[in-house]
Amino acid sequence: RGVVKIGGAKGNKYDNLIGEMAERLRRGERWVLVHGASSFMEDLSKELNIEPKYVTSPSGFKSRFVSKSDLTLFRAACCLFSVSLVNLFGKFGINAVPLYPPDSISAIATRKDFLRVLEGGKVRLMRGNYSGYITSFVNEEIYSLWEAGAIPILPPLAVADDGEFLNVDGDRMAAAAAASLKADVLVILSNVPGLLKVPNDASTAIRRASLKDMPVLENYALGNMKRKLLAVKEALEGGVGSVIIGDSRQERPLSTALDGKGTVLC
Ligand code: ADP
Repeated sequence: RGVVKIGGAKGNKYDNLIGEMAERLRRGERWVLVHGASSFMEDLSKELNIEPKYVTSPSGFKSRFVSKSDLTLFRAACCLFSVSLVNLFGKFGINAVPLYPPDSISAIATRKDFLRVLEGGKVRLMRGNYSGYITSFVNEEIYSLWEAGAIPILPPLAVADDGEFLNVDGDRMAAAAAASLKADVLVILSNVPGLLKVPNDASTAIRRASLKDMPVLENYALGNMKRKLLAVKEALEGGVGSVIIGDSRQERPLSTALDGKGTVLC
């Protein structure tokens, strides 16, 4: 039982991954595929002349401010990626089913209506944000799909307490799914060979680490990698056997990661 997260940023590859997962699913392994959507969102925004608004929190986390219309666009971006994954699985004879709120319920989140934003050295509040943080995870639909021989695909969207849906972070969504399913492994595939000590230098990839090394690892992570480490922590604390940050650009990205190439955390 495992969860794979495939990044949505440019430079990620996913066709090899799908072929490889199809083989494993045919052998009876149970996987969930969580995906990001950032490059699809960027392309859609560009086509529609919408300027994305990125903000930095006082603790240094960069995120996108999601207005109501951004959320609609984000949902469309997620759909584009999900459909592409469904089609690829279909070519291998595998039935893949995306779980979209509010029709399907998986992650439940609380909305961060206003974001604390660091701008020009000052902290200010920005209202009208439609992203949130996951508070619980309902895994029934995943089990039903597994029973039916299908692979569940999860976009980074959650249901809010008021029944609306929200944008959530894909890595943390994958961590919540993996913890809820008590997964043996969470594999986070991205456009890098793992957690690097020196950016852009593959030879500095960290091979193995554990929860207690987290404060040291956090020093190496910049930008989006900070959030990935948060997801790693949440997964391990939630009882997931191990988390591997691997490279999606490999010929067999999942097997390569499971063979320990990448950063293995347990
Ligand atoms: P994805 O869409 O694949 O999840 P992200 O952009 O969210 O990708 O996160 C991966 C990015 O994190 C890398 O492309 C890299 O630029 C950045 N990054 C920051 N710090 C590190 C680090 N220490 N090691 C590896 N990547 C890092």
